Amino acid sequence: MRTCKEVSKLVSESLDHELSLWQRLGLWIHLSMCKFCRRYRKDLLHIHHEIQQRALAIEEDIINSEEKLSDNSRERIKSLLESQQ
Ligand SMILES: [Zn+2]
Repeated sequence: MRTCKEVSKLVSESLDHELSLWQRLGLWIHLSMCKFCRRYRKDLLHIHHEIQQRALAIEEDIINSEEKLSDNSRERIKSLLESQQ
């Protein structure tokens, strides 16, 4: 059976890429028996979800702020970009 340290590393890795069948099997066997790692996984998934939501909100703010540019500002940016070429 995998150690808690190995499992915590696998839980983190599972957020970045899909684990192999062998890794998933080891992870789930350990999680079925270890409440500490289940708790760690739950907390990590929650934090990961919160970060994704905040990143989306920031992205939306940026898009919305671009839409709020006045025509005058757009023209100034456009002419500035054209003068740089
Ligand atoms: Zn554990």
